[in-house]
Amino acid sequence: MRSEWDFFLGDKLNEECGVFGIYNVEEAAQLTYYGLHALQHRGQEGAGIAASNGEIIVREKGEGLVAEVFNVEKLEHLPGMMAIGHVRYATTGAGCIENVQPILIRSHTGDFTISHNGNIVNAKELKMQLEAMGSIFHTTSDSEIIGHLIQRESGDFHEKIMKALPRLEGAFSFLIMTKDVLYVIRDKNGLRPLSMATLENGYVFSSESSAFEIVGAHYVSSVKPAEVITVSKDGIKSDFYTEHTQDKMCAMEYVYFSRPDSTINGLNVHISRRETGRILAKESPVDADMVIGVPDSSLSAAMGYADCSGIPYEIGFVKSRYVGRTFIKPNQKQRERGVKMKLSAMSDVVGGKRLILVDDSIVRGTTSKHIVQLLKEAGATEVHVRISSPPLISPCFYGVDISEYKELISTKYNPEELAGFLGVDSLAFLSEEGMYEGLGKNICMACFTGKYPTSMFSLLDNLKA
Ligand code: SF4
Repeated sequence: MRSEWDFFLGDKLNEECGVFGIYNVEEAAQLTYYGLHALQHRGQEGAGIAASNGEIIVREKGEGLVAEVFNVEKLEHLPGMMAIGHVRYATTGAGCIENVQPILIRSHTGDFTISHNGNIVNAKELKMQLEAMGSIFHTTSDSEIIGHLIQRESGDFHEKIMKALPRLEGAFSFLIMTKDVLYVIRDKNGLRPLSMATLENGYVFSSESSAFEIVGAHYVSSVKPAEVITVSKDGIKSDFYTEHTQDKMCAMEYVYFSRPDSTINGLNVHISRRETGRILAKESPVDADMVIGVPDSSLSAAMGYADCSGIPYEIGFVKSRYVGRTFIKPNQKQRERGVKMKLSAMSDVVGGKRLILVDDSIVRGTTSKHIVQLLKEAGATEVHVRISSPPLISPCFYGVDISEYKELISTKYNPEELAGFLGVDSLAFLSEEGMYEGLGKNICMACFTGKYPTSMFSLLDNLKA
């Protein structure tokens, strides 16, 4: 699970957003605030909530963490029993207040708001077409495109949405709220997670099911690929904007992004990580005294590795939770100091020991190198690194900030060379087959394989953008 530390070190993948929405529950905005808190790891640049009392939509948003953006007065200002919220990490569009969501579209046919998690891969092409037809964009975010597409279609609001959605390529989980109806939408490839729960007489929707717990909602299911759920005073109904669907959930949601207590497409994240750790131990055994994991996202995989290998699991690091936001976007020297500020190797535990260090992924390799150094300074006699996913070799176009091949160290070095770069005794990655065995076949693995689940034309356009 991503933390501020990962921003600080600049060597972990960042995702773009989390969305949360409520229909027909008292104090909807307050509950959305708690829901966004539980999704904070998905975006820390900005947060917003739009709420409706059936008559008007009111929105509050700002840059920073959820707790920094909202206070009691702001939440009291948000009326009614419906709300949608958003936490933002910018992958498309600059990180500025205009781009913080929910986006509010004022229209003569009725205002509506949008929260979006994902990345529209044909955004450039659509934006050019829309601007040529007279649309004026108020943000540089790709999320505004769906608003303009909806406005240009004919029919009632539901018809407009159903006509607009097939024009979008890429990854999207949308919550779209008019003053009295909530629309919940997932892209036809099922790339980004979105789950549904019930609460009293109402409904709750969230990027991750872990956010249901905090508001007391009961998980029902994942929203299906291409599904459009409409919740209104007439009840709840489900449609599909296309029959051409596939289930390609982002594998990185399991490996790294999501909280361990989230369930995605019926598979709990902690259990999936533990399973990939077990498979990794079978694929790449090594003789050692103990297994440790890099906190927090690698701990479950480390437990799985220990289970399967019979080598004891230990806590090798203590993680400080109080690294401030001041250091975001640091220089290289600050990053090196940052590793020490954030992680302390337990020398009484690891000193004199042969270690298996389990991590979830290697992006640029710089953090891994510093972490290995910490263990050596703490007296480890051997460090064997085991990665619970395959090497990252391709960019992501679906809302994760791996934008260039050259950022990825596994495009330059094979595992043996990378072991030399990291200064470790051995290095092994989970195989592609191992990932499928642990997570099932219905996953996107494009950043590990270079095989993308959407049209290459839009992706090439993204590369040129
Ligand atoms: S390319 Fe990688 S990070 Fe992007 S959606 Fe697919 S699995 Fe996730």
